[in-house]
Amino acid sequence: MMRRAILVGFLILLGSGPLILPEFQITLLNYIGLSALVALGLVLLTGVGGLTSFGQAAFVGLGAYASAYLTTATDLPGWLAWAGGSPWLGLVAGLLLTGAVAWLLGSLTLRLSGHYLPLGTIAWGISLYFLFGNLGFLGGHTGISGIPALELFGFELKSGSAFYYVIWLMLLAAVWITGNLLDSREGRAIRALKGGTVMAEAMGVDTARSKIIIFLIAALFASVSGWLYAHMQRFVNPTPFGLHIGIEYLFMAVVGGAANVWGALIGAGLITLVKQWLQDLLPRIFGASGNFEVIVFGIMMVLVLQRARDGLWPILARLAPQASPASRDVPQGEALPRKIMPQVGADILEVSEVFKRFGGLVANNNMSLVVRAGEVMALIGPNGAGKSTLFNCVSGVDCVSAGEIRFLGERIEHLPARAIARRGMSRTFQHVRLLPGMSVLENVAIGAHLRGARGVVPAALHLERAEEQGLLAEAARQIERVGLKASMFEQAGSLALGQQRTMEIARALAADPCLLLLDEPAAGLRYMEKQALAELLRRLKAEGMGILLVEHDMDFVMGLADRVVVMEFGEKIAEGLPAEVQRNPAVLEAYLGGLE
Ligand code: ADP
Ligand code: MG
Repeated sequence: MMRRAILVGFLILLGSGPLILPEFQITLLNYIGLSALVALGLVLLTGVGGLTSFGQAAFVGLGAYASAYLTTATDLPGWLAWAGGSPWLGLVAGLLLTGAVAWLLGSLTLRLSGHYLPLGTIAWGISLYFLFGNLGFLGGHTGISGIPALELFGFELKSGSAFYYVIWLMLLAAVWITGNLLDSREGRAIRALKGGTVMAEAMGVDTARSKIIIFLIAALFASVSGWLYAHMQRFVNPTPFGLHIGIEYLFMAVVGGAANVWGALIGAGLITLVKQWLQDLLPRIFGASGNFEVIVFGIMMVLVLQRARDGLWPILARLAPQASPASRDVPQGEALPRKIMPQVGADILEVSEVFKRFGGLVANNNMSLVVRAGEVMALIGPNGAGKSTLFNCVSGVDCVSAGEIRFLGERIEHLPARAIARRGMSRTFQHVRLLPGMSVLENVAIGAHLRGARGVVPAALHLERAEEQGLLAEAARQIERVGLKASMFEQAGSLALGQQRTMEIARALAADPCLLLLDEPAAGLRYMEKQALAELLRRLKAEGMGILLVEHDMDFVMGLADRVVVMEFGEKIAEGLPAEVQRNPAVLEAYLGGLE
């Protein structure tokens, strides 16, 4: 309630800006709005998606130059004639051009990992900047002047305050779209990128697609900002589209709080104002003119990274009262359609003569096993035996060196993890992989990713609320099923380790699997929690699910498993009923008397 009041107050203030502020301040606010639009793209790309780009200014340039050229050129080639004359057609052309260029650059650079991606963005940021300055038809370094003003319903928007409304309405629309997108199935997939791609892919997310989506959105926001800039200034040259401005945009996103849409506004506002102020002040102090503010920005950046890594927004947000998690409503909705379960007793997973080598180490050496629908198969063995490696091979997280894996009769050993997930296999991880800052509900909902289908556009416009409600309700049901209802709205990172493992089971179940791979699910659980977990697994088994279980707690395993495979040094050393395996001398030897 309080938050809504703050928002309404902010919007009223914003709307009355031109009525109460002098022209100079309005111009400043216009610049803030333009920068915030670019920074908003970076919030999505860098803050949420974890992909750092220094090159956004180049996309601003593409939007600006596209419209500048099209609205001023008198000798447009025939194929471009449609886009000439009107700034609005210039906007469309600019978006198409930026989209195409971003798609090309994204496909080339997003595959780069670690610091290679930021370096890649610097490279194309510089290239495009020099391209703007060196193309004759774009006016070289002098640029293009005489760009027409925007026209809206027959009115020419020549004054700063008229433009103010266009800029801020577009910015608020972009904030709304971004906020909607993040609060959706596609948004969860995007937010999952930061947790590394392994978990997201195992839950069926096409991470390469999610990356290119946020890259495109960020580029298109930048392009719109450039278009607005060109028609506000009425002339363009390459200077505002250089690398140093790209760094400034990134700085705005980081200072404001790169993980929140409002952080973009705070960052853009602060940096623009401080820059303005420093440009007045510093030359007077130093007695000479120069870009001294860059030095101060450098120091500020270091301070922010040291003291407030998440930027200013979280600090401001803490001042507003929070809704307590307990008061939130548990999402309700009809059950989602389910896959047809295989016949109980049918072989659903067949691992045949699988080898996995890491350099000279043979982590899986001629491993074979079968899991049937409606049974618990336990995979046991000392640490380092190769159990998790086999899980990774089976679930497509890693690829086999040799051998064959069939799931529901189909060869899967060369399929990516998300394709295997789609066929009905779901897993947990020995080392939990979750998004600590997201609620338990949202984390579990990532598991239901493949049970929704609505894409980015419906999500951005919030036209997928019915489907979203269904997915969240499904996640809530699975959370309840594993006994975590009380923690549904808590941050996943605040749970005890044992509960985080349990949450991963709920996430896996949300995918509606017929085969469940659990890697040490009982580790870190207390006795009562283990009992509850065993009870849950028995129920799943009774429903016809196949379960492949790695576990160290022998009491837990032996009481639950229908069959057991024992591994040591990557090889299978025994297989059979729990009672048989427990008497097997090789197994006793492997466990050094650990089994009585
Ligand atoms: P378990 O789960 O049975 O404890 P793992 O499958 O994790 O065993 O590991 C089996 C062996 O493979 C270990 O010796 C481990 O060090 C090695 N190993 C696992 N993953 C990798 C990897 N990505 N690169 C190199 N060696 C690995
Ligand atoms: Mg392991």
